[in-house]
Amino acid sequence: IVRFDKVHKSFGSNQILKGVSFEITQGQVVALIGRSGSGKSTALRCINGLETINGGELHVCGRAMHQPGVDLHGLRKDVGIVFQSYNLFPHLTVEENITLAPRKVNGIGAQEARETAADVLRKVGLLDKAAAYPEQLSGGQQQRVAIARSLAMKPKLMLFDEVTSALDPELTGEVLKVIEKLAADGMTMVLVTHEMAFARNVADQIMFMHHGIVWESGGGEMLGQPSTAELNQFVSSGL
Ligand code: ATP
Ligand code: MG
Repeated sequence: IVRFDKVHKSFGSNQILKGVSFEITQGQVVALIGRSGSGKSTALRCINGLETINGGELHVCGRAMHQPGVDLHGLRKDVGIVFQSYNLFPHLTVEENITLAPRKVNGIGAQEARETAADVLRKVGLLDKAAAYPEQLSGGQQQRVAIARSLAMKPKLMLFDEVTSALDPELTGEVLKVIEKLAADGMTMVLVTHEMAFARNVADQIMFMHHGIVWESGGGEMLGQPSTAELNQFVSSGL
């Protein structure tokens, strides 16, 4: 569903991705880990076309992202992204936040959009908050609404960029649980995370990014027995 093939990305003369290659198949959960500045967010943003790549090939849901004229509109229906900041509309209720894009972008009718909103709110355990405004919710609940809003577009692939980093530790668990549930439901996902225990539990594949490439990759057990000194150092530094 996603294939990075020697992907390069620079900002000016600053080379961030220097030949990133990896593949994500349908239903897989992939965790991207690595030091701050190693290019995890950049790689994620390339997947949904927020950044264009400078070299190599990148295929996402059947689209060749390295070629001109990518249908970004179609791409973003297929690929949902959730960031650290939830960016809910403060003046809209939870339900209105969720039904907005399906109605405006996908042209779904009001009734169907409301049914979808109920479905996705149930998935994140917040059906009872449909009429609430974002400010009435905790950070963890707002982030779960942001996830629900993304799910309402019925994406084929979900991207999560450190969705728990802005949350107090006691609110992190409820968001991670939602992601675990999505994984169990077979959703294809890419997670950028600093939660190593979580990455180990939920991810089928872990990619350790270092010096602009995937330095080491493997299953959860890789974190317990790194093959490279660099991953070993990263894991033991507890970042
Ligand atoms: P973190 O763990 O801190 O989120 P990251 O691995 O997600 O780090 P990126 O956000 O991908 O790292 O950034 C990688 C590098 O690219 C950084 O040095 C950053 O300053 C640079 N960078 C990212 N976006 C831009 C941009 N739009 N313009 C210029 N430089 C950028
Ligand atoms: Mg980042």
